[in-house]
Amino acid sequence: MPGKHFRGGVHPREEKKGTSHKPIEEAPLPKQVVIPLLQHIGAPGECLVQKGDSVRTGQPLSKPVKFVSVPVHASITGKVTAVEPRPHPLGASLLSVVIEGDGTEDRIETLKTSDDWQLLSVEEIRDRIRDAGIAGLGGASFPTHVKISPPPEKPIRVLILNGAECEPYLTADHRLMLEKADGILTGLRILMKVLNVRRAVIGIEKNKPDAISLMRSKTEKDRTIGVAPLHVKYPQGGEKQLIKAVTGLTVPSGGLPMDVGCLVQNVGTAFSIYEAVCFRKPLFERIVTVTGPGVVESKNLRVRIGTLFSDLIAFCGGYSDETVKVINGGPMMGIAQHTDGVPVLKGTSGILVLDEKSGRMKPESPCISCARCVDGCPMNLMPNRIAGLVEYGRWKDAVGIGLTDCIECGSCAYICPAKRNLVHYIKLGKALNTESMAADGGKK
Ligand code: SF4
Ligand code: SF4
Repeated sequence: MPGKHFRGGVHPREEKKGTSHKPIEEAPLPKQVVIPLLQHIGAPGECLVQKGDSVRTGQPLSKPVKFVSVPVHASITGKVTAVEPRPHPLGASLLSVVIEGDGTEDRIETLKTSDDWQLLSVEEIRDRIRDAGIAGLGGASFPTHVKISPPPEKPIRVLILNGAECEPYLTADHRLMLEKADGILTGLRILMKVLNVRRAVIGIEKNKPDAISLMRSKTEKDRTIGVAPLHVKYPQGGEKQLIKAVTGLTVPSGGLPMDVGCLVQNVGTAFSIYEAVCFRKPLFERIVTVTGPGVVESKNLRVRIGTLFSDLIAFCGGYSDETVKVINGGPMMGIAQHTDGVPVLKGTSGILVLDEKSGRMKPESPCISCARCVDGCPMNLMPNRIAGLVEYGRWKDAVGIGLTDCIECGSCAYICPAKRNLVHYIKLGKALNTESMAADGGKK
């Protein structure tokens, strides 16, 4: 198995010891959930419920109106008390269904014993994945039924299962691989059937030797599935970096993994595919790591989608004395929250709570042209120049030197001795570019 490197990257402290040994616990059934209609890339679905309706766990709350869209489902049984904009962990407020639970667990019918997925057609499998509302659980949240429908001229030759989990602090994927390996592997085989792929590789960073040896032992008789131990380097789990590390192939600028015959799925997504296809179970719960020095006890939890961050932090013993920041995700790519009253989404892999020492931002100072950000950029960009152009309103020039190729991994900002807000400028530049393209009718 190749042990290739991607260019650039950084080595932040791993900080995983607080939860890597902790088995997944069931979080208590929340009394209330807030379920945004938009939790994926694409169009929100059309809302199917209104205030006063009774709903059962697993019942669809929306129906997709476009191809790039998935439904959301009730994650508890109870009554809809509001359909209104609520704070969303990715920013702003978005239309959400609020459900007050009645304390019972009346689920919609799912299969008690596994269907033989090998008897299902590719179309039936795709339909079950779409109807279950599956969108990438690794954080990107792209609708899975779309991702696994590449055009005929772009056949997939290698399917890569992403078990890298390179974000510091987070261990949800690690624990899932240890505790649900068989389900993940069935999900992987289902994907191989859909994509007509004869070769799959599970990429896992070498800091998870137990997961590597478990996956190896479970696949040793299957010549179509390999396990690739990966260098511990951030962002090893980025799609393009993972493809480079596993196959040696480079996804071209502006291109997609399918351009080099590859497709990447997260291990959590594979497990949800297994549950959706074999048991017709909708995606209404997922694994979340709640961790960091700002929370009393770190845990890996099975959590209902829509559970508020505040409820999970309370279940973990509450805040420590010096909590200053709550982040949706990890410290590198996560988003700091202005309130803990935001819900867990399908793409929420972690809630990181930082204290004064770990979470206080240092003041920005002028660039000293050291080029460390250039050396650390895994996309071969010049973050200092891109950010500088955006800062002075020249974001169109920034597009010309690769602004839109940035994967927002945060490596440049992490390594910058001047603590320049490089990713903030890059995100601003991308937003201005998108706005300008929309105003121009997408002609650029
Ligand atoms: S410019 Fe973008 S891709 Fe490069 S290091 Fe910074 S955030 Fe990552
Ligand atoms: S790492 Fe920071 S200080 Fe060094 S060149 Fe990049 S932006 Fe400037």
